[in-house]
Amino acid sequence: MTDLSSAFALMGLTSLALSLILSIRSACSDKVFKGLRNLFILHHYTATTGIALIFFHGAIEVASLGFELESLTAQWQEPGLLWAWMAVLLFIVVVYFARINSLKHKTWLRIHRLGILAWFSCLMHIYAFRSNDWLFTYYVSLGLLGTMAIVRSQILPQLACWGVPFKVKSVNSLNSNVFELILSPPASENSLVTSTAQYYYLRFCSKNFSRQWHPFTCLSNINEGELKFAIKTLGNDTQQLENLKINDRVDVEGPFGHLHERVADHELWIVGGVGINPLLSCLMQGNVEKMYEKKNIHVIHAVEDEKSLIYQNEIEEIKKKLPQLDYQLWITSQKGFLNSFELKKSLTKVSKNSEIYVAGPPLFINHVKKLLKSEKVNYKKIHTEEKIK
Ligand SMILES: Cc1cc2nc3c(=O)[nH]c(=O)nc-3n(C[C@H](O)[C@H](O)[C@H](O)COP(=O)(O)OP(=O)(O)OC[C@H]3O[C@@H](n4cnc5c(N)ncnc54)[C@H](O)[C@@H]3O)c2cc1C
Repeated sequence: MTDLSSAFALMGLTSLALSLILSIRSACSDKVFKGLRNLFILHHYTATTGIALIFFHGAIEVASLGFELESLTAQWQEPGLLWAWMAVLLFIVVVYFARINSLKHKTWLRIHRLGILAWFSCLMHIYAFRSNDWLFTYYVSLGLLGTMAIVRSQILPQLACWGVPFKVKSVNSLNSNVFELILSPPASENSLVTSTAQYYYLRFCSKNFSRQWHPFTCLSNINEGELKFAIKTLGNDTQQLENLKINDRVDVEGPFGHLHERVADHELWIVGGVGINPLLSCLMQGNVEKMYEKKNIHVIHAVEDEKSLIYQNEIEEIKKKLPQLDYQLWITSQKGFLNSFELKKSLTKVSKNSEIYVAGPPLFINHVKKLLKSEKVNYKKIHTEEKIK
């Protein structure tokens, strides 16, 4: 192995170990990286760099064999090299599918986990060519660190004891496909709600639910013990919400999120459907008048039709309390998707220094971000909490 090749292998595996550590979802990493999304973006870049460096290492090694068929086929008798080829194949599959946005969340997750197999194949490859020097000790330490990170990110959250066990207090229908879920905390638990517009991962433990963790924005007041959510029935678990019974167990992990850490002087919210939840979390606080005193708030709320609206009475009450709240409804079944003409009109109403919050389904967020970009809005002013895979 040449010095260059071993340097690529060393840096590649270090970068991969780092990416495994950066895949750990925790309240602490959310705080340090100012949001799980930033953490997962770093996870993505360190993993991509690691894989690229490992491919360079492989390319140098293959090139050193002179591309002769005889020497290449001889490799198949060498178990250490077979592990290397297996890692390369698995990495190719993971990289290929990671780029497909339209993939179903669960399928994407399963394919992504093949990266863990690739990691262990790399470790087996190193073990097969072990030596008694400091480099091998370093690789063993990296192997242990990466494996511990996998246990923390993939195995521990699946345990029944993971998260805080809340109980269902009530489930009410808000419209034909949105349910309000209120959870009461165990007696020992202090309030989890620390800020507005934060979200929690929930795991429904009742029969027939998948026991996967799902993120939902919390609508409760800060320091309130109970957790309140408005959840749209979309897939496997959310379509079964009406089957939840009082006192059913729901595990809670969080809070996460940094969408709205402080009230800005001028706020523009562009939200779609239940994407209004982070805004409602701010506006439903008991001290909303004080929070938004002398502040301007402009809202464009896109919904398919009026039947899709939630908490209409509450919004009317808030409008009375906050005369400066400019709430504009955009019915897509009548007017089509929000367009740049309409957005321009809203942008002229707000100050250039407005903080802009965009929330809703991933397609909606992408559409609005493109419109804002075409209007040359400073991207630092745009805040989103997008889908986290
Ligand atoms: C930060 C954040 C806050 C959210 N807040 C709310 C909320 O307040 N109310 C609400 O109704 N929805 C919210 N969502 C979306 C919600 O997480 C998904 O609708 C939910 O996970 C679907 O679960 P399911 O089992 O019914 O769907 P599945 O059958 O698992 O999949 C249906 C679709 O739901 C989406 N989805 C599934 N799992 C996740 C996941 N872990 N992260 C993101 N999207 C996923 C995917 O697009 C998938 O195609 C939020 C998402 C994020 C990222």
